[in-house]
Amino acid sequence: MADTLTPYITRFAPSPTGALHLGHAYSALIGNNRAHEHGGQFLLRIEDIDTQRCRPEWEAAIYRDLHWLGLNWPKPVLRQSSQSLAYQTAMARLFDLGLTYHCSCTRGDIRAALAAPQESAQALFGPDGPVYPGTCRNSNLRPDQAPALRLNIARALEGLSSVSFTETGYQSGVRFCTAKDMIATLGDVVLARKDIGVSYHLAVVVDDGAQNITEVVRGLDLQPATAIHQLLQHHLGLPRPRYHHHHLIRDTAGKRLAKRDDARSLASFRAQGMACDDVLSALGLEKPL
Ligand code: GLU
Repeated sequence: MADTLTPYITRFAPSPTGALHLGHAYSALIGNNRAHEHGGQFLLRIEDIDTQRCRPEWEAAIYRDLHWLGLNWPKPVLRQSSQSLAYQTAMARLFDLGLTYHCSCTRGDIRAALAAPQESAQALFGPDGPVYPGTCRNSNLRPDQAPALRLNIARALEGLSSVSFTETGYQSGVRFCTAKDMIATLGDVVLARKDIGVSYHLAVVVDDGAQNITEVVRGLDLQPATAIHQLLQHHLGLPRPRYHHHHLIRDTAGKRLAKRDDARSLASFRAQGMACDDVLSALGLEKPL
């Protein structure tokens, strides 16, 4: 399967759960500039699967902030809330391949299982929190008995000694993740939850495929999850984009910025009369091309 796809298409995919901050501006501007450098397209996707936390006013604020930064994108934008059929189809395919199982564990159950002496020595944290100890893996629960659907990662990796992806950002080159490491450090990630319908991992892979994304530009915090995304792309028969993971913008204490930190939101800089150019030079970035 080809790794390098043309023409170049990237996306910025914020969730409307709070105010965009400097880190989001950095990511969106890098994506936009890379798209222009490659003579390609910069798309916007609204990642609004979590209906409990997403708000229309935050979505409106995303458009305002990005326009203020001088960014433009083709309309209409893809919103994850309109993609449930595509997610269901992907889940059905993984289920038919025997790569998923239903899980009834609560966070408390997982904590308790990991605290058991035989498990705690190996308890690790992956991109979604503690690595799932596999309690329900062989329980054959029905969907009505279980709020979550998980990927059986060991089964999904059968016959594969590693998964690889092309990194064009931090530590660029071909990056390999061995099956052994993926099982230990990522585990049986959640693919769907009754309350949200689909998890970030499955949605992002299906949407990147639907939008023909050739390079994913996003923060370094998501680099560990990329091996899961590649594995899902493999089983779903989706093309494999390149990945450009950039550094995270941190505050003066070295902490990464969070949406709840209103003082560093783009809207608050604007309200203080700061010009977009000041934000760009604070980030060491050029005006959008
Ligand atoms: N919606 C994710 C976020 O706001 C972005 C995920 C991605 O770019 O893959 O962090």
